[in-house]
Amino acid sequence: MEKYLNYIDGEWCEPSTGKFAPVVNPANGKTLGEVAQSAEPDLDRAVQAAKSAQSVWRLVPAPERANYLYKVGELLKQRKEQIARTLTSEMGKVIDEARGEVQEAIDMAFYMAGEGRRQFGDTVPSELQNKFAMSIRVPVGIAGLITPWNFPIAIASWKSLPALVTGNAVIWKPATETPATACAFVKIYEEAGLPKGLVNLVHGSGSVIGEAMVEHPGIGLISFTGSNEVGRKINERAGGLLKRTSLEMGGKNAVIVMDDADLDLAVDGILWGAFGTSGQRCTATSRVIVHKKIKDALEEKLIRRTAELKIGDGLDETVAVGPVINTEALNRIHQYVETGKKEGARLLTGGRILPGKGYYYAPTVFTDVSPEMVIAQEEIFGPVVSIIPVASLEEAIVVNNSVTFGLSSGIFTKDVNKAFQAMRDLDTGIVYINAGTTGAEIHLPFGGTKGTGNGHRDSGPAALDVYTEWKAVYVDFSGKLQRAQIDNN
Ligand code: NAP
Ligand code: MG
Repeated sequence: MEKYLNYIDGEWCEPSTGKFAPVVNPANGKTLGEVAQSAEPDLDRAVQAAKSAQSVWRLVPAPERANYLYKVGELLKQRKEQIARTLTSEMGKVIDEARGEVQEAIDMAFYMAGEGRRQFGDTVPSELQNKFAMSIRVPVGIAGLITPWNFPIAIASWKSLPALVTGNAVIWKPATETPATACAFVKIYEEAGLPKGLVNLVHGSGSVIGEAMVEHPGIGLISFTGSNEVGRKINERAGGLLKRTSLEMGGKNAVIVMDDADLDLAVDGILWGAFGTSGQRCTATSRVIVHKKIKDALEEKLIRRTAELKIGDGLDETVAVGPVINTEALNRIHQYVETGKKEGARLLTGGRILPGKGYYYAPTVFTDVSPEMVIAQEEIFGPVVSIIPVASLEEAIVVNNSVTFGLSSGIFTKDVNKAFQAMRDLDTGIVYINAGTTGAEIHLPFGGTKGTGNGHRDSGPAALDVYTEWKAVYVDFSGKLQRAQIDNN
């Protein structure tokens, strides 16, 4: 049986506990291997290794650091298919989406390698003569990364690559469900020749290793993506310790379909957003806010197209919708569907757990949903979408903005005025015009407003702000004491 080990100080190693947990393929319930269940002594070793590696790495010129990232990008490219298959086997998304996810990591590697020659600061005129003023980025030190299972390599790449190119060391705790993809990524860092101790992989449960990372005095920064429940807990504890946190959490994303929209295009966008990755994306389309004039036509097309989706093992190239992650997820999703029915929403299709060995849920569409219903407010994280009728764009925007989350939104309209109004007034971190709620590109900031995050962004140049401190530097070459704000006024 495959054993997924820790990688600490450049060595693959057993956890100090000697304990392992099973890893299961959600498409068929078969055990793929077992993952290390580490404890604090393992984390301590990783912090020691990271500390000593970072003390050297911070002095390596950033363009030279970037050369390792170019190698990482090349190796990811070579291994794209293999990693995609591993990813599908352990978390279930269909193979095409898994390939796309690995591509995201490849893009991120080359993009962040480019940052080796940027990382711009400001050079500004001083208010005094014979004085020079500038700002530079410096690494935080050790970045603790805690990631979810639904994007096991993309999110790890969004966090580890900017951390490294800006001169930090990394300690990564991946989700318990997806250790094989994590090991494959770390092997690439190893093969790229990254100095030992710079990237450390510590498997283990969130409640043991995740919490220990937040507590550890050697880790100054926690970059987390996952549920709101856990993110809030991390923020409270890390806040008390005055640690830096970057938190990306849940969503309750909506697509708005106006009465002038291309309905077939809107249905393509909704299907892809709602049922891709079986609805288990932070950017999944969970609500469709539709103009009542075209509601019936949209519903008819959506039901017909949903019925055509082939459900099964994501490794089968003809499958459109894979399994959900585990039995608990199946039950949670079904619970939401029962709640929706009790609240008076009308079930158009789906609404059931499918029989068989894997964890499959039928793609589900509710209609006549009102904005305050539980199914229209809470993140379901499964293949369930709710249609909410409205009478105007203004009403659609109010409904879109009525949730506690603020990750992504989309609008289908041919009216440029409506498109620009939506761009301005939708209160999410990401807005799509004539596309669904998923499909972010890595060179723009990724993240959300309100309960989705705490103001930081993954990917794009904004990611550098998470992993660096600003240092303001003044060089006085006048040879005398010059007092700012005093001697020149
Ligand atoms: P999760 O349960 O919050 O887990 C995320 C990570 O946190 C896992 O590595 C988990 O470890 C760890 N963890 C659990 N409890 C912890 C604790 N007390 N302290 C520190 N770490 C802890 O989330 P998930 O179920 O894996 O992922 C689904 C959620 O992620 C959804 O809400 C989704 O919207 C969100 N998400 C957001 C984004 C975004 O960018 N906004 C992207 C993708 C997903 P274990 O695996 O061992 O539990
Ligand atoms: Mg979890």
